[in-house]
Amino acid sequence: MNILLIGGGGREHALAWKIAQSPLVQSIRVVPGNPGIAELPKCKCVTLNLNDLNEIADYAEEQSIDLTVVGPEATLVAGIADVFRSRGLPIFGPNKNAAELEGSKAFSKNLMQKYHIPTAAFKVCTDIDSAKAFVEEQGAPIVVKADGLAAGKGVVVAMTKAEAMAAIDDMMADHKFGEAGARVVLEEFMEGEEASLLAFTDGKIVVPMVASQDHKRVNDGDKGPNTGGMGAYAPAPVMTEALRIKAEETILKPVIAALNKEGRTYCGCLYAGLMIKGDSVKVVEFNCRFGDPETQVVLPLLDSDLVQIMLACATGTLDASMVKWKNQATVCVVMASGGYPGSYENGKVITGLKEAGAMENVVVFHAGTKEKDGKVVTAGGRVLGVTALAKDIKSAKNAAYGAVEKIRFEKAHYRKDIAWRALFRK
Ligand code: ATP
Repeated sequence: MNILLIGGGGREHALAWKIAQSPLVQSIRVVPGNPGIAELPKCKCVTLNLNDLNEIADYAEEQSIDLTVVGPEATLVAGIADVFRSRGLPIFGPNKNAAELEGSKAFSKNLMQKYHIPTAAFKVCTDIDSAKAFVEEQGAPIVVKADGLAAGKGVVVAMTKAEAMAAIDDMMADHKFGEAGARVVLEEFMEGEEASLLAFTDGKIVVPMVASQDHKRVNDGDKGPNTGGMGAYAPAPVMTEALRIKAEETILKPVIAALNKEGRTYCGCLYAGLMIKGDSVKVVEFNCRFGDPETQVVLPLLDSDLVQIMLACATGTLDASMVKWKNQATVCVVMASGGYPGSYENGKVITGLKEAGAMENVVVFHAGTKEKDGKVVTAGGRVLGVTALAKDIKSAKNAAYGAVEKIRFEKAHYRKDIAWRALFRK
């Protein structure tokens, strides 16, 4: 089979790495890919205009692509799956109307309310006055969210009313996130521990993956501003077997059924960001694609052929028996550019990649890198996801940090406490 993979971050490196292991696969074209992906067997990175969905579909036809896999949400929300399906090209990822589950927080919250899927109480506001009046009435803490896609930056967990008012001004008066902030969702603050539960679905059945946990804050101890994710581990012990069953029965299955009922059949990876407190599990958000960095820790634990699963999702033939997991654990430490998530410099030469990658059960996923004059240099906030697989979380953490120590670039920054919640729990 020939595969086309869209994207070029750490998530797509992990996808390409796992896809390349499938005996079904001859070639993988990755748009645009990255220097780490370019080194994988069967992979070739290509440049296409990601805003021109028909150009990508033309390319898929020319190259006799058998299955297309989409990493980034923006491409799904823009409707790549609709274009491909209308041309008879198999694709793993939801259509535009199903991707709205991530593309519009107001849509997602209204759907959950309509179908009684547990989530925080909320109000959707389209004007500043009603938003501020609601904050005045509810008080703080309260969560202010831009409705549309804002690359993970459109959420403010306001601990005071003043912070909430300022966030509303940023989004609705100063248009900080453009059209994405024209509507805001104001949400009840939920306490608890977060976990990510990704699932495969063909639109009919839904098969959860192992639960994982991201680390959103930039500094140790979950301090500092939010980032795209500074590391992850799996499995996350906060998601007990009883809670996983509860999440499957009260969240994953109902949302797939709800989307079906609304004429928005969902095929692909469904990402549920969950808040757990005691035996309660509620939805923080849904994403319409694999998570980043969660994918880097979940896929190395998959003991089945990912391509076979994705093909089954794309053709409506998914079966739970296709999805098996290793009884091991993974830890991914994100190495970021100094200054991230604020401003940072690119172009720093990275050394030690080969030494780290040669370690047993270690994979260095590239997130923001590029090749310059034969050297790999930094080209983004999150630069690398250094991932290790081992018998348990503690060993995986030691191995991942052992690999991190071999890698150098100027002003590299990483958290030293990835997986602390799992280790603290024991
Ligand atoms: P991303 O796509 O990067 O995961 P996002 O912009 O879609 O983020 P959310 O996941 O909805 O935004 O929110 C980001 C973070 O804000 C959550 O991971 C959680 O830590 C916090 N958060 C969001 N909603 C709530 C809530 N109701 N109560 C408490 N914390 C919340």
